[in-house]
Amino acid sequence: MPIAASRLPAPCRPEPAVVQRLLASLQGRLDWPAVITAAAPWVQAVRDKPAPFWAMESLLREYPISSAEGLALMRLAEALLRVPDAETAIALTADQLGRADFSSGGSDSSQHKMLSSLSASAIGLAKRLLPDDAGSKPGLLERLGAQTVVGATVRAIQLLGRQFVLGRHIGEALGEARTQRKDQPRLRFSFDMLGEGARTAHDAQRYLAAYQNAITAIAESTQGQGPAERDGISIKLSALHPRYEDAQLERVLDELVPRVCGLIDAAARADINLTIDAEESDRLELSLVVFDRLAAHVQDTAPAWTGFGLAIQAYQTRAYEMIDAVAEIARRRSLRLMVRLVKGAYWDGEIKRAQELGLNGYPVFTHKHHTDISYLACAQRLLEHHAQILPQFATHNAGTIAAIVQMARHHGARFEMQRLHGMGEGVYREVMAASPESRRAAPRDSSPSGGDAAGVSGPHELSLRIYAPVGEHRDLLAYLVRRLLENGANSSFVHQLADAQVPVTELLHSPLQPADAAGQPAPAALYGSGRANSSGADLAVPEQRAPLQAAVQATQVRTVPLADEAAVRHAMTMLDSGFDAWSARPVAERAAIIRRAGDLLDARLAAYCGLLVREAGKTLGDCIAEVREAVDFCRYYAEQAESRLAPIALPGPTGESNELRLHGRGVFVCISPWNFPLAIFAGQVVAALVAGNTVAAKPAEQTPAVAQAFVELLHEAGLPTDALRLLHGPGEAVGAALVAHPATAGVCFTGSTQVAKIIQRTLAASEGAIVPLIAETGGLNAMVVDSSALPEQVIDAVVQSAFRSAGQRCSALRLLCVHESIADGVIAMLRGAMQELRVGDAAEIATDVGPVIDAEAHGNLSRHVARLEREATLIGRAALDTRFAATHIAPVAFELKQVEDLREEVFGPVLHVVRWGGDVDTLVKRINALRYGLTLGIQTRIDSRATRIAAQARIGNVYVNRNMIGAVVGVQPFGGEGLSGTGPKAGGPHYLYRFCAEQTLTINTAAAGGNAALLAGLD
Ligand SMILES: Cc1cc2nc3c(=O)[nH]c(=O)nc-3n(C[C@H](O)[C@H](O)[C@H](O)COP(=O)(O)OP(=O)(O)OC[C@H]3O[C@@H](n4cnc5c(N)ncnc54)[C@H](O)[C@@H]3O)c2cc1C
Repeated sequence: MPIAASRLPAPCRPEPAVVQRLLASLQGRLDWPAVITAAAPWVQAVRDKPAPFWAMESLLREYPISSAEGLALMRLAEALLRVPDAETAIALTADQLGRADFSSGGSDSSQHKMLSSLSASAIGLAKRLLPDDAGSKPGLLERLGAQTVVGATVRAIQLLGRQFVLGRHIGEALGEARTQRKDQPRLRFSFDMLGEGARTAHDAQRYLAAYQNAITAIAESTQGQGPAERDGISIKLSALHPRYEDAQLERVLDELVPRVCGLIDAAARADINLTIDAEESDRLELSLVVFDRLAAHVQDTAPAWTGFGLAIQAYQTRAYEMIDAVAEIARRRSLRLMVRLVKGAYWDGEIKRAQELGLNGYPVFTHKHHTDISYLACAQRLLEHHAQILPQFATHNAGTIAAIVQMARHHGARFEMQRLHGMGEGVYREVMAASPESRRAAPRDSSPSGGDAAGVSGPHELSLRIYAPVGEHRDLLAYLVRRLLENGANSSFVHQLADAQVPVTELLHSPLQPADAAGQPAPAALYGSGRANSSGADLAVPEQRAPLQAAVQATQVRTVPLADEAAVRHAMTMLDSGFDAWSARPVAERAAIIRRAGDLLDARLAAYCGLLVREAGKTLGDCIAEVREAVDFCRYYAEQAESRLAPIALPGPTGESNELRLHGRGVFVCISPWNFPLAIFAGQVVAALVAGNTVAAKPAEQTPAVAQAFVELLHEAGLPTDALRLLHGPGEAVGAALVAHPATAGVCFTGSTQVAKIIQRTLAASEGAIVPLIAETGGLNAMVVDSSALPEQVIDAVVQSAFRSAGQRCSALRLLCVHESIADGVIAMLRGAMQELRVGDAAEIATDVGPVIDAEAHGNLSRHVARLEREATLIGRAALDTRFAATHIAPVAFELKQVEDLREEVFGPVLHVVRWGGDVDTLVKRINALRYGLTLGIQTRIDSRATRIAAQARIGNVYVNRNMIGAVVGVQPFGGEGLSGTGPKAGGPHYLYRFCAEQTLTINTAAAGGNAALLAGLD
């Protein structure tokens, strides 16, 4: 990793310590009472002049996002404008407005004014929504015409959107900027081309062209202005490359950096600003590496240009060090750079990611006022670096603004304030008015030879830049929702400013105190006190990645001896005789052993990942998830055993005690597959053991070493040797012998439906006891996508669900059903996204798709693909290096004519796509008719539709608006119905019961002559 990134500390350091250090850096630097004195009049003035009824603040006051109405508004804003077909638009609107009561939201007349003005244009807009051939669908026009509310809603969303977008294209935005400058001549803009991040090379080229075009237009329109007065552009690196990820560093440096260099050249030639937006925290180190490369380019090509910069998010716990790293780059490369300090826009997403990945903390602060502390400390640091960096402070918070002005005055540094278009207008009106010098139009040069070098600077330099999004309505949606969330959050300054109930003193309360307790439970404490979440690793962090990569290099797969018939007989005898002692152990003792095994495994994440990569050909990301699942199984079943397997006292007549007891059944045979050689193996085995059974475990033939390592770990944790035996060998020999053995008291099997049936028949034919079978088998898993879904989100979910683990998951997506009205676009995006997948060596961090398990699987998949090539329409295929042709199958997608054309489970990276139209209920019936019932994905913004589909589907695991793989123990208990298995679900609260026999113990407590307790008044 290049030097710059290594300057950053670990992302998840303990929050209190980080906050203390930041507070220490501010010691004696801020006079907060003076901040209040400066900011209180601004706040009061804004409150005295309330925003117009259509403004965001008013709207969110009427409909806060914590209310059903506010939520409905936000969800409609996110989806309605992109829906192409009228029927879905009506369903979506009815769904969201149906649960909200807009008529009783506010009391004043402004609301009625708003709604009536919206309704006026409703019918016209509603008609526009209709497809051209609407006449061919009798009744539709009438229905929609009648539902003026749909039109009104569309209009409302458009109005909302317009508040945040300066223009639909750069020309319009520049025109609007000119208009605004008539009143405020020194106003500057940084234009942002809206859109989702690129998923395909084509998307990236489109964004690149938009940026190039915008730079040209801005350059033309700002000719004649001094450099400091020029408008600029903000760019998102994720828009310029579909794989702007740490794992793809090489591609990012080879492909993305030259693209940005091209933009830099154009911006530098025109001497306008170019700022790189800040994105998710897992891209922080990458962004620094890229920024350093770009700075090197600036050094070589335009060393005098002062308009290059990046945004830094104060909510990141590493923001302070990031500023130092940028200052170091500026010094090293003799450049003067810009840094835009923001608080950060993706807080909710960062918290969720850290919890999902089981990280050892959060990369962002968990208290709003810790972010404020960080912002102030970072501001202070930026001002200290003002010789290298032009500080640009982006905030709408009056307290923060006043504090910045105070600190900047102290430093005598030149700086710039920034706000988002559509936000903070009122506050900045007051801030600028309160700074009389700001009206003195005296443009200054921000170059080193200008303002600072001349020693001229100070608060009278106060200047304001507006971040101005540009784009069509469709491109605006994600941005709009971010802003709605930001403005609607209770903790947000803008939200509280609009709420007259919040006293000014509270609004401007000093943030300079650490919080008493953590704002969010640590990711490890996600499941409360009962059990710890398993620890993960963030592959985007070099320090966390390195031990895993080292383990892969160091791992050698051991040979596991094959078991013959005699070994099976011997093992069964031993397990049979070991049963009494093991099942007699108190459940707490058994649980403690299993829990200890989980803890050992948790601590040896790297070693087990190494083994999984080497033996099963899994990628590192998949390996981490698998080890974590196994740890979770241990902890979850231990907890479940203690809470669920304890005797239950039952009611009954006096003189009698009744108790229900659960105990192990005997020897359980556990047969597991190669696709999750650790997690499924461990899950079956520890469930059976903790319930009091002894276990004969037969791992898949392809992956015995992983299983052997887990067995050793269980013994290390204290499991007696006669409670568990590993028997490695072919299913037809070893598996069959175990199932047919007379000592077998239960079978737990995960694998194909065919083998499950064979086991079922063997058990049925046995002369001995009736032996229970828990079978978890395959699926023809579908995803239903309607036209309200967000294509980018669909593609992310599809690519992960269909191709992760080379499609070798029982939960994997096999059949994508896309609504016909959006199918062309989704299919094109799918094709592009597949071309971005990297197929290769599982040990390499950049690999998305590793090998299929063995030559037999390769042969079967190749034949299936060859058949589809003849019978279906090829959509797209990932590139495959010839080196991997014999071991890997390139992810591939085909379009089928109908659902029924998919007849069998194809266990690999092969996706089948169908288009659907008409009634979604019919589609669900056809999916049900496939008779598998494992997983189902639903992508829709119509909540009632998602609920209805889920209720109709005879499917075990249903996922809405996300991928459909990676079920988490105790969170998404896993298992299907029909041809997909018997249940109960693994990792669910009913699982252990199936491993137990039940006994009711009834004791006549009055047997010895009479009911002494009753007579003594004790009963
Ligand atoms: C010019 C400009 C450019 C921008 N560019 C970017 C960018 O590149 N990348 C980006 O991510 N954002 C960007 N933003 C958005 C920016 O992050 C938000 O507008 C900003 O956080 C709002 O802060 P505030 O000071 O206006 O409001 P405040 O109300 O004072 O602060 C709100 C912020 O506090 C933080 N917060 C909220 N709750 C918590 C909590 N429980 N724990 C910890 N922190 C919390 C969040 O960051 C939230 O946005 C930009 C904003 C502007 C004005």
